[in-house]
Amino acid sequence: MKPLQELECLKSGIKGVCFDIDDTFTSNGKITSKAFESLWKLKTAGFFLIPVTGRPAGWCDHIARFWPVDGVVGENGAFSFFMHKGKRKRIDTLPIELAHEAKSKLVRLRKEIEISFPGCSFASDQEYREYDLAIDFCEDVTPWTETEVDRLVRFCESKGAIAKVSSIHVNTWFGTYTKIDGIRHFLAAAPRELQLPAFEELVFIGDSPNDEPMFEAFPISIGVANVRPFLSKIKNPPKFITLLEAGSGFAELSEFLRS
Ligand SMILES: [Mg+2]
Repeated sequence: MKPLQELECLKSGIKGVCFDIDDTFTSNGKITSKAFESLWKLKTAGFFLIPVTGRPAGWCDHIARFWPVDGVVGENGAFSFFMHKGKRKRIDTLPIELAHEAKSKLVRLRKEIEISFPGCSFASDQEYREYDLAIDFCEDVTPWTETEVDRLVRFCESKGAIAKVSSIHVNTWFGTYTKIDGIRHFLAAAPRELQLPAFEELVFIGDSPNDEPMFEAFPISIGVANVRPFLSKIKNPPKFITLLEAGSGFAELSEFLRS
């Protein structure tokens, strides 16, 4: 991973930023004024901004409406929400018939998890999710051991689901889409008037193993400094890294891109 300064010669080709939210844009569970201001500064400077998150549909409705962003990809790539002509619109990544099937399989998986992991807690935002289950191992519960988290991931995979570990949740869903598919589908299917940039003109910044598909796929990917403890779990690390952690690292990228 190279320091951000080595990105200087490629900077002029960057039109926008895709970014993870938890522990990339937030710091210790909060959006700092510095991070949010740095987002506004990027928007004012003309950058396209697309958060990409495992967070639920309920949150994404708010983000699309109120944050200075061009759209948001939620629930690990299941859909994108965006504003168009003053109305909140959505693009689902799965075709409708597959979406129905995925949702009914999810109901079954939830019951199986509850039986095999008695006492486990679903994320406090579970009821605002449409396509995935989020099992809390660190946010509002006593942190699980790495072995317990691994066992849950293997359990979900044994049921045919995808399972990804963020810094706080195990997210699991049916369907082969990833956050990358969500981003690509949004860029391809969004109304032309939005004049969204090409995938190759966007950079990605993230912090954890569930960001690995983006670290690999984006020509320019960046880790905030707090990605370091997760590197043993990431085969394709980000190509660049910030000096600062979490929201301060995001603000560091914002300042770098605008300078
Ligand atoms: Mg994160």
